[in-house]
Amino acid sequence: MTTESPEISTTTDPRFDRQVRFAPLGPAGQERLQTARVLLVGSGALGGVLAQTLVRAGVGTLVLCDRDVVELSNLPRQVLFEERHAQAQSPKALAAQEALARIGGPTTIEAHAVHIEATNLTGLAEGVDLILDGTDNLTTRYLINDYAIKTGTPWVYGGVVSSGGLVLPVIPEKGACLRCVFPDPPPPGSLPTCDSAGVILPAVGAIASLQAGAALRILSGDTDFMPRMTQLDVWSGAMLTLEAPKREDCPACGRRNFEYLDAPAAREPVVFCGRNAVQISPQTSSGQPRPDFVALAARLEPLADEVQELGVMLRAKVEGATLTLFPDGRALVEGTTEIDRARALYDRYLGS
Ligand SMILES: [Zn+2]
Repeated sequence: MTTESPEISTTTDPRFDRQVRFAPLGPAGQERLQTARVLLVGSGALGGVLAQTLVRAGVGTLVLCDRDVVELSNLPRQVLFEERHAQAQSPKALAAQEALARIGGPTTIEAHAVHIEATNLTGLAEGVDLILDGTDNLTTRYLINDYAIKTGTPWVYGGVVSSGGLVLPVIPEKGACLRCVFPDPPPPGSLPTCDSAGVILPAVGAIASLQAGAALRILSGDTDFMPRMTQLDVWSGAMLTLEAPKREDCPACGRRNFEYLDAPAAREPVVFCGRNAVQISPQTSSGQPRPDFVALAARLEPLADEVQELGVMLRAKVEGATLTLFPDGRALVEGTTEIDRARALYDRYLGS
């Protein structure tokens, strides 16, 4: 669609010469890519590979969000992070932004250390051409799917565990959505997770690369693209394309019942996959003021074993646990997977 001449546009940045010579992309596809705005939810394993690929490809704007901080056990599969990020327990979105900026290039990179929910997704996704899934949980994916179907925004699902995974590009009005394939969340504990089954970087890289391939095709304006669901395993080498028919009784794209997007934020505690940690959100709705880290640090000083006021976050060691408070009022309670204990520590030390 774009390759009437093999000549490379003289206006093209020489950085992208080999990419533009790839005929299906061509100068016109590259130009579209460089004006595109993409929201990437999650900047860890899949998100790290996706972010790096899009920045190296020269996407116009990349909006990163991630709710977690870097830890040592991330390093075997989360390609943007280094030991120093784990030592500092840097917020992943900010560490990723820093690593991506070092690559250089024309991409504008925005970073948000937030937990995505219905109340903030609409603002973060406003005006984007594509949403990419770098998350680790189905609830957030159902929320993204609702938003995408409701607004007609394409998105690319990716799921990885152990040595394999699944990719589904969702183009509204052009095939199945995530809830055509998985209408309801599975019962808790019924599926393997990276917590129970582990995960290896070759699987992460393969799944994220399939997602990124679909992303470049969508962003370059290829209207012939027909999305297909792909399953692969890098240990056995097996790869297959699966039928994913659009279902008329699909809750999202069939009945247009956007229960995840329209539901008031549950603000339930979240036990993080693969982490000895629980996330606690404040019970008030969005729009609350940023916590006063300096005042809070002074209040915690006599109570905590250690307090650090780090500007982008406040960290306190208390009762054998580490509390990390973010500007949006969320806290990560590390050192427990018990929701009641995490909630109690939050209320005792960070609650008003
Ligand atoms: Zn559907």
